[in-house]
Amino acid sequence: MNFVALAGGVGGAKLADGLAQILHPEDLTIVVNTGDDFEHLGLTICPDLDTVCYTLAGLANPETGWGRADETFHALENIEKLGGETWFRLGDKDLATHIERTRRLREGQTLSQITCDFCRAWSVKHTILPMSDDAVRTIVDTEECGELAFQEYFVHRRCEPRVKGFRFAGLESAKPAPGILEALGKADAVVICSSNPWVSIDPILAVLDLSPTPLRPPSPPLPGKGGIEGLGRVVAVSPIIGGRTVKGPAAKMYAELGIQPSALAVARHYGSRLTHFVLDRVDQIQATEVENIGIKTLVTNTIMRTPEDRRRLAQDVLNFIQTL
Ligand code: GDP
Repeated sequence: MNFVALAGGVGGAKLADGLAQILHPEDLTIVVNTGDDFEHLGLTICPDLDTVCYTLAGLANPETGWGRADETFHALENIEKLGGETWFRLGDKDLATHIERTRRLREGQTLSQITCDFCRAWSVKHTILPMSDDAVRTIVDTEECGELAFQEYFVHRRCEPRVKGFRFAGLESAKPAPGILEALGKADAVVICSSNPWVSIDPILAVLDLSPTPLRPPSPPLPGKGGIEGLGRVVAVSPIIGGRTVKGPAAKMYAELGIQPSALAVARHYGSRLTHFVLDRVDQIQATEVENIGIKTLVTNTIMRTPEDRRRLAQDVLNFIQTL
């Protein structure tokens, strides 16, 4: 079977890594959110894209999940001495990525081409694509501060302002990056990784839905076809476990938008796009309600602490999506 995975940063990268441990490079394309991208210190920074690439390359910082392992911060320390901005933590190795990417973007190369070349240099075998080569920027509308650029909300203000809504600036003219529609066209299933639905997955879905060939709508298994051919299967893994996130503001966002944070809320969020949904054992009680809205469920351990956890969850997801 052939798969497309949609991913944000830390949570998405872990499941994407599990899938990559199992699936042949030709059978998996990972499409990553670029709504978090921003310009900082004169550089174009793509936090989710870099997190997914570093994770699959085995270069990610195992403690934070983002940034590079064995990192130093000499450049940032010296920027601080000069009175520059240091609220966004950029390590020395990581800076090299942003400097080289920015140079190449200024030469007119595309983000997807640059990402492909970087992945080759880092020996990443699977295809990782930014959702678009066009700039789409997530804007968070907040009670206290009005509209904030995503990193201003997320890192600088530590997700403290209360959220009222989101918009994706640049969406109208953004096209999916080259290769995404082809990958979706041959995919048997789409895996929506355990990422923040509001700000990691919704921007990707927004870009894909505006494209001429949208995500194939979920369809029931075709009788007599062994359950895998020609199906628009879409499975999501809940990033909300026991009403909370493992990390990050997704649960806080649901609550501030008047929705009780839960796995069920995530299933409802994606709604009729989903054919399958994976929720944690602690949320087992919600499985029936998810089934009642016409989505098949798998209840399993969804916490990924180790590389083996990632692989095991990915295998559970793949087994689930392949069963009738
Ligand atoms: P970000 O862009 O770095 O915030 O990353 P994502 O949006 O991809 O990931 C954030 C989400 O991942 C949060 O809602 C977390 O609850 C979720 N998450 C992180 N680790 C895990 C995990 O081990 N299991 C599950 N199910 N979700 C996780």
